[in-house]
Amino acid sequence: MRVDVISIFPEYFAPLDVSLIGKARERGILDVHLHQLRDWARDVHRTVDDTPYGGGPGMVMKPEPWGEAIDAVLAADPAAQPRIIVPTPSGVPFTQKLAMEYAAEPWLLFTPARYEGIDSRVMAEYGARMRVDEVSVGDYVLAGGEVAVLVMVEAVGRLLPGVLGNAHSAVDDSFAPGAMENLLEGPVYTKPPEWRGHEVPEILLSGHHGKIARWRRDEALRRTARNRLELLAALDPETLDKHDRKLLSELGFPA
Ligand code: SAM
Repeated sequence: MRVDVISIFPEYFAPLDVSLIGKARERGILDVHLHQLRDWARDVHRTVDDTPYGGGPGMVMKPEPWGEAIDAVLAADPAAQPRIIVPTPSGVPFTQKLAMEYAAEPWLLFTPARYEGIDSRVMAEYGARMRVDEVSVGDYVLAGGEVAVLVMVEAVGRLLPGVLGNAHSAVDDSFAPGAMENLLEGPVYTKPPEWRGHEVPEILLSGHHGKIARWRRDEALRRTARNRLELLAALDPETLDKHDRKLLSELGFPA
């Protein structure tokens, strides 16, 4: 997968050299291109922002440098089109489902902003020509979109074939489509069996795969009921077996 990022802080993306994503880049699974937006500014001060029309606090990113920078990235492969992802708190929520959708794309272009965001005409211009998604990583406001891009590239990158050591490990993750859809993963343990008086649940030492799987599902349901009621409400009743229904009703949520 090719990933382009246009930002006034390309140095923010140093973490993409590290760990799983760094290795994916070394192995050519992920091809990341970072661009300095100011390279497309026209004045001596390399200005990329201006005062907002209509007044109000803060500055808005000018359309011209963004337009020219995006055009330059698009020119890298005129036969193809990236999916453009504009991080913004006013976008649609970034979810595991969206991460999976992005992982199936050959080319993503991220446009992290600063100040009050990018002049909306930039999204209108490219939205008329290609897929442009305005995406939020959560209901809070960051100082800039770079961290949001790091979040998205990591979530997408780990789903690319060959990136995770164990090909199945994403299947059991929280939110994974299938058995874990709308569920949070339960607690995990490793050796030693006892630490500071805390014991590992005995069932995990039993070697009984069926019972362990059942225990894990119970814990996932319990944790979701405790931490994310709205996910529990979104569970597909078709995916619940008799035991799930009994547990949910014991927890006070009849399916
Ligand atoms: N005034 C804007 C608003 O209230 O929607 C917030 C602008 S924020 C200070 C600057 C930039 O940070 C945004 O344009 C976006 O690129 C990024 N950003 C901030 N919070 C974000 C979030 N929750 N998800 C994705 N990007 C975010």
